[in-house]
Amino acid sequence: MEKSAHGSGAASAGNGLAAPGEATWQRLLREAIRDPDELITVLALPASLRPGAQAAARLFPLLVPRGFAALMTPGDPADPLLRQVLPLADETIPTPGYVSDPLHEGECAPLPGLLHKYHGRVLLVTTGACAVHCRYCFRRHYPYQDRPRGPAWWRPACAYVADRPEIDEVLLSGGDPLTLPDAQLAALAADFAAIPHLRRLRIHSRLPIVLPERIDDAFLAWFAGGRLRPVLVVHANHARELAPAVVAACRRLGTAGVTVLNQSVLLRGVNDTVDSLDALSRALADAGVQPYYLHQLDRVSGAAHFAVDDDRARGLVRALADRLPGYLVPRLVREEPGQPGKSPLT
Ligand SMILES: *Cc1c(COP(=O)(O)O)cnc(C)c1O
Ligand code: SF4
Repeated sequence: MEKSAHGSGAASAGNGLAAPGEATWQRLLREAIRDPDELITVLALPASLRPGAQAAARLFPLLVPRGFAALMTPGDPADPLLRQVLPLADETIPTPGYVSDPLHEGECAPLPGLLHKYHGRVLLVTTGACAVHCRYCFRRHYPYQDRPRGPAWWRPACAYVADRPEIDEVLLSGGDPLTLPDAQLAALAADFAAIPHLRRLRIHSRLPIVLPERIDDAFLAWFAGGRLRPVLVVHANHARELAPAVVAACRRLGTAGVTVLNQSVLLRGVNDTVDSLDALSRALADAGVQPYYLHQLDRVSGAAHFAVDDDRARGLVRALADRLPGYLVPRLVREEPGQPGKSPLT
């Protein structure tokens, strides 16, 4: 498993010293790989990938924590973890039907950064920052700079929720909310916990997978220690992402009383085989994580080369259901603008 770039990559990243007051995960995020040439060098990939990577990284920069890169197989341009993060020339090719805001999210925000699309739950876009840049992400074109941050911004969101007793769950999303410091998240969580009709606080984050050091004592203290039932939806697409440190982080969450779910995106060349999806569900089960959604790709420009057609997607999930207990089969869904929830593909 530890086949690769670990030593060399991590050692060249910096002096390994934390800035004052900095948590380990914050240092690791600061030291993440941001230069396509460096990733290509560290993983001994063909030099022919460089021009495309540089061009595509100008549209959406490369970002990958060194620990995640260390799980990739050196010399393999088709590695399923690498494909999720390596910018490719394919991204620069416009494809009909693939647009910059496929979900029309601009249209369902009652307040800046607050999405209220589905009954009983609201989604707060807490930040535009992520710990990894996933090449297929629909947020790659999101106008995050429009979203002000901090208490002055989330208090109106709290007031909106407080006025609507039918809302019992708040989702923190982004970007990735766990790129924010614990002090800020804890303050936000405390403000929501003071609203009596709220019952659950849900976080959608990829950090437990790509930067498992994020699941530290400071995080568990506020997230698992508050009044609201904590739910964490992680995002793993391939069994190899469930490295020992990730499994340990997921188990810590479970032990602390957090409900941990996983959502994946169905991605060509990453996880579009029955064997791959089967191995992912089993690896999640071993970590105490419940498979939740398998998303059909949002048709965002630059991501067309990841698309799997709907018929093949349905066939994959049917074959998966023949092999696994029902509770390990994720629901195949697509997000359609204007629908009251994720739309099942049946
Ligand atoms: C996906 C999503 C949710 C959560 O949907 P669940 O089916 O509850 O997981 C809520 N709000 C928005 C805007 C979403 O996109
Ligand atoms: S929002 Fe999630 S899927 Fe998109 S780039 Fe960030 S971590 Fe990846």
